[in-house]
Amino acid sequence: MQFSGVIGQSLAKQKLQNMLASGRMPHALLISAAEGFGGLPLAVALAQFLNCENPSDQDSCGQCNSCIKAQKLIHPDIFFTYPTIAKKSGDKPVSYDFIVEWRKAFLNNPYITYNQWMESITDENKQGNITVHECHEIIKRISLKNYEGKYKIQIIWLAELLREYGNALLKSIEEPPANTLFILVTEQPDQILNTILSRTQMLKLPPIEHNAIQQALENYLDFERKNNASQLANLSGGSWSTAIELASEEDSQIEDVFLNWLRYSAAKYNTQTATGIMQIVEEFHALKREKQKLFVRYGLFFIENCLIQKATGKNQLQHQTLEVSKKIADRYDLSIFQSIEIILNKLHYQIERNANPKIAIHSASIKLNELMS
Ligand SMILES: [Zn+2]
Repeated sequence: MQFSGVIGQSLAKQKLQNMLASGRMPHALLISAAEGFGGLPLAVALAQFLNCENPSDQDSCGQCNSCIKAQKLIHPDIFFTYPTIAKKSGDKPVSYDFIVEWRKAFLNNPYITYNQWMESITDENKQGNITVHECHEIIKRISLKNYEGKYKIQIIWLAELLREYGNALLKSIEEPPANTLFILVTEQPDQILNTILSRTQMLKLPPIEHNAIQQALENYLDFERKNNASQLANLSGGSWSTAIELASEEDSQIEDVFLNWLRYSAAKYNTQTATGIMQIVEEFHALKREKQKLFVRYGLFFIENCLIQKATGKNQLQHQTLEVSKKIADRYDLSIFQSIEIILNKLHYQIERNANPKIAIHSASIKLNELMS
């Protein structure tokens, strides 16, 4: 993976280049990035760059022996640690047990999420962990001589899952052998032991720039759907994982369900409305939690556009949603939109904190209907 393959994050790339140019690359770097912001791809691009035989100022060459191996995740001096599961009781899993799945999953999507990774290694609903056995493996392999690279690099993806086992790594992270670099990637820096935090230098990634996501979406989407790129980029909140989830076929459903929800909310409350709302509650409940969050975020985006429509007469929505937003903007006062935003934000908060989704959406539906009907 080259830096050019990492979507956006120009500021973070520049910071890394500055660290390298001034010889201030720490021996333990902690990349903190929310899901889909590109923490893992950036770590892999950095590892490839450091071992490239013919790098330019800005990027690895992508063609030398070292780059070719790094691109296939088979470089003998670039190691990966990621969450694993015990296949049967008594197993002492280490990351390398899953290397075939790992290479396949990353090469298929470098922006892989924790849930997607778990789904690619197990059918059961298991929690992935970085085990103490893996920590011992890390200590063992970084003490060995480099094979061929300039640097030996240990990438730890989702370092928050080290939990207290991370203590086993303290000495290695503090005083690694020469030319050894730890790159920890985390989505939840507050879950990392302070003893580890204090031994690393943090690089925090912001959401991916809007233009970069839009451009990446234009390359990703079919020709007919390219016009949606800007709207999807807005909805993604700077997360490429969210952007491609939104772009996947079934997510056009989210828009339909939301518009139906609005229709029932605006209708006079009677048996038919109540039945309609119950049906939406069921449809919402059937979505995975991540999709439920997308649904609410979509709702917030829609309402925001209704507000802009009311204020300026223009908005970013398209096709049927544009027509609906115009009608809604005409019909309601600004204060109603603010109240709807409060209801949606509360719903998002509840889902994020694992509230019962049926109760949460039902209660939000009743409040919306009181406001809008
Ligand atoms: Zn190269």
